[in-house]
Amino acid sequence: MNSYDVIVIGGGPAGCAMALDLNHRGYDVALCDQAKFPRDKVCGEFISPGADPILEQLGVLSSIEALSPKRLKGVAISSYESAELEIDYPASTETGLSPTSLSVRRYQLDALLLKQVQSAGVKVFEQHKITDFIFNEGCVVGVKGWDKTKTTFSLKAKLVVDAGGRNAVSLRKFNLKREPKGNSKIAFSAHWQGVCLPQDYCYMHISRPGYTGISSVGNGRVNVVLVVETQEKSLNQNQKVLPGMSQLPRRGVVEGSALGGDKPEAFYHRVLMQNARRRKMLEGGERMEPVRSVESLAFAVKPVPCGGLMLVGDATGFIDPFTGEGIYLSLRSSQLAGEVIHSGFQNSNFSRNFLSVYDERRKQEFGGKFLLSRILQGLIYNRVLCNRVMKSLSANRVFAESLVGVIGDILPAKKVVSLKFLLQLLVGAFKGKAVLDLRKVL
Ligand SMILES: Cc1cc2nc3c(=O)[nH]c(=O)nc-3n(C[C@H](O)[C@H](O)[C@H](O)COP(=O)(O)OP(=O)(O)OC[C@H]3O[C@@H](n4cnc5c(N)ncnc54)[C@H](O)[C@@H]3O)c2cc1C
Repeated sequence: MNSYDVIVIGGGPAGCAMALDLNHRGYDVALCDQAKFPRDKVCGEFISPGADPILEQLGVLSSIEALSPKRLKGVAISSYESAELEIDYPASTETGLSPTSLSVRRYQLDALLLKQVQSAGVKVFEQHKITDFIFNEGCVVGVKGWDKTKTTFSLKAKLVVDAGGRNAVSLRKFNLKREPKGNSKIAFSAHWQGVCLPQDYCYMHISRPGYTGISSVGNGRVNVVLVVETQEKSLNQNQKVLPGMSQLPRRGVVEGSALGGDKPEAFYHRVLMQNARRRKMLEGGERMEPVRSVESLAFAVKPVPCGGLMLVGDATGFIDPFTGEGIYLSLRSSQLAGEVIHSGFQNSNFSRNFLSVYDERRKQEFGGKFLLSRILQGLIYNRVLCNRVMKSLSANRVFAESLVGVIGDILPAKKVVSLKFLLQLLVGAFKGKAVLDLRKVL
């Protein structure tokens, strides 16, 4: 049986960042992914500006730039068909320069990252699905699975890192997903051509039955992502919750019966064009590929119950894609894990107790982000409140830029997840009738 220092499950951004980090530190790493690359992914495809230094450190930023991605200067938000409020990322206090976010096709990005991993000397096994772990005295010491010919295989390692995303094998095996609160959500995405966006922003349109993110990904392509709540009454043209909606498949292709009888394509187009602002943006263009769909509900994850195993990326929990930070969080979680793994090798200790430092560090660094994401979720589905907060933001550009700076991972979350900031932001909103029950949101 082949043996490595570390086995990484999954070749998405988290897995590739993990493998590169450990490879740079001199460890013998193998990476397994069930997919054959290049492969596509439902994603808004913009990467927070805060990720640039990490991509640089991993040695991949210049190769990504060579793909001619788009650089976006911030977000433009429309609340229930209001005019878009354009908010730039705040300029750096040191350089005075305004950062930008990368907007690039996942089809290209993920393949590029995996190629980089392979070139660095990591042993990459594509089309190798991990189905179980090998244990020794209660600690994970390897993985088992099958390859594309359905032949079973086993690999041994001192440590396994699961970067398998929202359906990671560890989440199932150890029952780690915390029951998500709130309604089920589905995301749809497709690239369009012939769409001329007014400026280099990610355009977020909030309206019933969900929101869209529209941004150029370079080379004449525009990515149009729609996220809807499946319990949302307006999904059905007859304004009734559909039978069977709550029994939606948790992943994979969404059936027409869940979409008011529409096929996914028809549903996607109908909902997109319901909103006058995005209709104006999209009507000159055309979809250039089939619509992809995926279940998209945020969830938290319980701590891993044994030694020898760590989780990175979406496998550690998933925040609603409205703030588009998943890739940054994945890259950063792998950086944090790298430090702890290195220390584990130095101390020959991969016990649960030793590795739990990583959970603490993640909690410290990301806790504020997760809270902000939940607050924003409570806000965007409340029309009156959302409109008022948007007005509040347009009247106070410093607030607006601080919020976008946190979302873009260039300012710490505590900058806006503070009572003072929230009170100032919401003061206008609370003057009216709308009342946000913060206890429900938090
Ligand atoms: C609708 C939507 C829009 C989004 N928009 C954005 C955005 O604009 N910006 C942003 O930063 N983030 C966005 N995200 C989040 C982002 O896509 C994820 O955070 C990111 O892909 C997580 O990376 P990962 O490496 O953890 O997982 P993934 O990218 O999911 O990669 C996991 C990999 O593991 C492999 N795998 C899984 N299980 C196994 C197994 N058992 N054996 C072998 N291989 C396995 C899979 O094949 C896959 O390649 C969005 C998400 C959604 C749903």
